[in-house]
Amino acid sequence: MTKNPADFDVDVLVAGAGAAGLSAAIALNRAGFTVACIGHVDRRANGRTVALFESSLRFYKALGLWPRLRDDAAALEKITMIDATNARFRAPSVSFAAREIGLSAFGANIETNVLVDRLAAIAAESSGLILHEGLIEDIAFNPDAIEASLADGRRIAARLAVAADGRNSLVRTKAGIGARSWTYPQVALTVLLAHARAHRNISTEFHTRAGPCTLVPLRARADKPHRSSLVWLMSASEADRRRALAPDALAGEVEEQVGHILGAMELDGPCGFFPMGGMSVASLYGHRIALIGEAAHLFPPLAAQGLNLSLRDSAALVETLEDARALGTDIGSTAALKPYGAARRGDISLRTNGIDILNRSLLIEFMPVDLMRGAGLFAFSMIGPLRRALMREGVLPHGHLPRLMQAQGRHAPIAASGAARAG
Ligand SMILES: Cc1cc2nc3c(=O)[nH]c(=O)nc-3n(C[C@H](O)[C@H](O)[C@H](O)COP(=O)(O)OP(=O)(O)OC[C@H]3O[C@@H](n4cnc5c(N)ncnc54)[C@H](O)[C@@H]3O)c2cc1C
Repeated sequence: MTKNPADFDVDVLVAGAGAAGLSAAIALNRAGFTVACIGHVDRRANGRTVALFESSLRFYKALGLWPRLRDDAAALEKITMIDATNARFRAPSVSFAAREIGLSAFGANIETNVLVDRLAAIAAESSGLILHEGLIEDIAFNPDAIEASLADGRRIAARLAVAADGRNSLVRTKAGIGARSWTYPQVALTVLLAHARAHRNISTEFHTRAGPCTLVPLRARADKPHRSSLVWLMSASEADRRRALAPDALAGEVEEQVGHILGAMELDGPCGFFPMGGMSVASLYGHRIALIGEAAHLFPPLAAQGLNLSLRDSAALVETLEDARALGTDIGSTAALKPYGAARRGDISLRTNGIDILNRSLLIEFMPVDLMRGAGLFAFSMIGPLRRALMREGVLPHGHLPRLMQAQGRHAPIAASGAARAG
C-alpha cells in the first residue's frame, strides 16, 4: 500500500453494511468513537425477515433507534412448534407464551431490507459516522493502525477493523483468522404472504423431515390486513422445483404445508432461496480486528438466532472498547480486545452447536433420535420451569448481558458522538 494520507482517518472501520455492520457502526458512533462503515447497502426485498428478541429490542431502544423501526415491526407474543415429521413417535405440539416469563412479547419481526434501509438512513445522518457504499479491496494490519483500500481508490486508516463483511469475510481472511465451514442439504425458501385469517401475533413452526417451515407474524398494511413471513427449509431439488412454480401454485403448496391455519394465502413479494451452511471461526479477535455477525458465526435460521447473536456481539464490543478507552488502552490491541472474545465465545458456540443438533435431529430418520427429540419437546410442554428457562435463554440469554442490553435505565449513559477526522 502507498504511504499517501488516508481519505478517512477514524477510530474504527466497520467492514460491511448489512444489518450487523450498520448496527455496530451506529452503536460505536453513539459511544463516541469515530467510525467509517464501508459496504453496499442491499435494499432489495427477498422475502427475508428477522425476528428480534427482547435483548435486541433493548439494544435498539438504548441507542434511540427503536422509534424509527417499531412501526414496521409486528409483535411476537406466542411461538408454537408442531411436529410434522410423520415419525412413528411424534412429539406433542409445544406452545411458548411471552407472558409466562413476564413479557408482553418475545420480540418483533421486521423485513430485513426495511431494517437495513432504516439503519442506513440513521447512519448517514449521524455525525462522526461515515457510511460509504463501496467495496474493500485490500486491508493491511500494521503495528499502529489498519489501512484499507477501496475499489474506488479511496483509503481508510483506523485503529481497529470490525469485520462485519459476511460469511466469506475478506477482512477476516486478510487478518489470517481461520474459519471452519460446513453445509447442510437444505435451502431456505423465504417469502412474504398475505392471508385470510389473523395471525394473532403467533409464530408457528412446523418441524418437517427436511427442516422447519415457519410462519412469522408481519405488520398489517392498509391493503393487506393479515401478513406473515415464511422461512421454509427443504432439499435443494424441492427448492429448484418450487422456484419454477407460478405464484398461485407456490402459495397453494405453502397453504397445504401449514395445514391451512391462516386460510387462503397469496405471495406478497418476491421469493428468496438461501443454501444452508454453518461456520465457526478460530478466534473472534486478533491484532486490530474484531469479528461480528456472519463474519463470526453462521448457522441455519432455526429459532431466529442469527442477528440477535450479532447484536449481542456489537453490544459486547462497544462495552469492551469503552472500557479500553477508559483505561487509556489502545482499542486495537489484542490485550484490549481479549475481553470481547471471552464475553462472546460461550454464547456463540452454544447457539451454533444447539442449532446444529436440532437441525440434524430433524434430518436423521432414526427412531432413537425421534424419540429423544420427542421426549425433549414433551418435557418442554409439561414442565413449566423448564419451558420458562428455555424461553428466557432464547430472548435474554443467561450470564452477563452487555450494558446496552440491560434493563432500561441500568446501562451507563452513552457519550455524545464525536466527529470523524477526514484526511
Ligand atoms: C432465511 C433466513 C432467515 C433468518 N431469520 C432470522 C431471524 O428471524 N432472526 C435473526 O436474528 N436472524 C435471522 N437470520 C440471520 C440474519 O438474517 C443474519 O444474521 C443477518 O442478516 C446477517 O447480517 P450480517 O450483516 O452479519 O451479514 P450480511 O447481511 O451478509 O452482510 C454482510 C455485508 O458485507 C458486505 N461485504 C462483503 N464483502 C465486502 C467487502 N469486501 N467490502 C465491503 N463490504 C463487503 C456485503 O455486501 C454485505 O452487505 C436469518 C437468516 C436467513 C438466511
